[in-house]
Amino acid sequence: GSFLDASNGSFDRIFGIETEYGISVTGTERPCPAAEVARTMFQPVVSRSRSTNTYLHNGARLYLDVGSHPEYATAETRSPLDALKQDLAGEHIMIGLAQRAQEQLQRQHGPQARVHLFKNNVDASGQSFGCHENYLLRRQVSLDDVRRLLVPFLVTRQLFSGAGKVTRSGFELSQRADYLDEAVSSATTRSRPMVNTRDEPHANPELYRRLHVIVGDSNRSQTATWMKLATTHLVLCIIEEAVERGTLTPFEPYALIDPGKAIRAVSKDMSGHAAIDVVGSGDGGDSMHSSALSIQHAYLEAAQDFVTRHSNDKDMVLDNAGQVLELWGEALQSIEDGNWQSLSSWVDWAAKLRIINALKHRYSTLHAPGSAPSWAQLKMFDFEYHDIMNGHVFESMQAHHRIRSLIDARMIVDAVNNPPMNTRAHLRGRFIHAALAKDLSWSCDWTHLVATGEENHAEFEIMDPFMCESTPQFEKFIDAIS
Ligand code: ATP
Ligand code: MG
Ligand code: MG
Repeated sequence: GSFLDASNGSFDRIFGIETEYGISVTGTERPCPAAEVARTMFQPVVSRSRSTNTYLHNGARLYLDVGSHPEYATAETRSPLDALKQDLAGEHIMIGLAQRAQEQLQRQHGPQARVHLFKNNVDASGQSFGCHENYLLRRQVSLDDVRRLLVPFLVTRQLFSGAGKVTRSGFELSQRADYLDEAVSSATTRSRPMVNTRDEPHANPELYRRLHVIVGDSNRSQTATWMKLATTHLVLCIIEEAVERGTLTPFEPYALIDPGKAIRAVSKDMSGHAAIDVVGSGDGGDSMHSSALSIQHAYLEAAQDFVTRHSNDKDMVLDNAGQVLELWGEALQSIEDGNWQSLSSWVDWAAKLRIINALKHRYSTLHAPGSAPSWAQLKMFDFEYHDIMNGHVFESMQAHHRIRSLIDARMIVDAVNNPPMNTRAHLRGRFIHAALAKDLSWSCDWTHLVATGEENHAEFEIMDPFMCESTPQFEKFIDAIS
């Protein structure tokens, strides 16, 4: 039978974003380690949940592993736009925790103390941390399909999804590129894969995988987050359809010879033309040179074709697919034309580089002609772009509509308070609400809800991430704990 089951909406997908944040403190008389700030931030979480690892009534997971990178993993959503909204809810919640921690630090360390909360991927000492994308994927798509057919897309989408990074030698498109070298995974212990192969589908394992993408940058631009998920979704649809039909995708020739080398080459090249070794059409078995732009064009054309072929069930494929394809095409064209500046309204690296260039220009007019700000000054500016707590660079661009936003403050507050209503997160939210109201001791994960009262131990399992309607069994479970 068909695994792209029309009764369930043929290309239905679950999306989730995990965002890790970096922390630093300035303005204190003696140094204040980030780990201490993280612990302070999580005091309200611990006093509510007796743990630094919890789920919230909007269905999200909020946690702090050892170290100092708090993480917000959004609830399961069914669209890129909803995933974006939930990720922004995460920013909002993190800011609330950081604000409270800052007030506490100011009482101990003086009024100049500032907590900085970075939505980026590299800290000041060069350690990298992640922003993971999670996509529900049909199990029939193998990890080798992912390596051959998806990874070339992931490596080249930096052209529009990279968050930009100031380096000693200049500027790169991506924050993460330097830190990953394997496509999917390998037996070597020191491999740093772009897609994690840990088999945790959080769903029926016979039907699905959870594709766990760890190669992306954290984006500040809402449009960049949305486009990153929407384009990746379309590529996954094409791959799923080809696997289902037993046909070849047009992506086969672009399988990368050396993904680590390719990702670094793309990151260092604003022209999109740097050579990338790919397997080629395979006729003579010879590899060939391609480029980020050629590879992206192949994916864009396949996506245009896919959306056209499915124009009758377009809504099931992706809301606003036309707009996604248009923006995607514009991005590639602007880079082709050497006119990356025109992308600064939504591509993070372009927005950042544009202000950096303005900064350099201002510096040389204020100081001696030809003089330039130091690497350290530019790096500080780079960090400020990502500081959701005390940064002004990005915030001011957004306030002046120089960065395009999709979600307003009211929608963000709505996502802080309410889980997505069209996934199992809705039921998880109801459970957490009931458990907190009753002051029960409880726990949960993506697939289980557990209440451990004195005489009423109760459990409920939701293996299907699309399940969102209550059932008599679920009502019985909620009644039992209420
Ligand atoms: P880490 O990488 O930090 O070790 P993890 O990736 O295993 O952790 P979580 O941090 O718990 O897991 O985040 C899981 C993410 O996957 C969430 O955003 C969640 O919404 C999403 N998710 C849950 N179930 C599914 C599913 N069946 N398919 C796709 N995504 C899912
Ligand atoms: Mg996680
Ligand atoms: Mg993860």
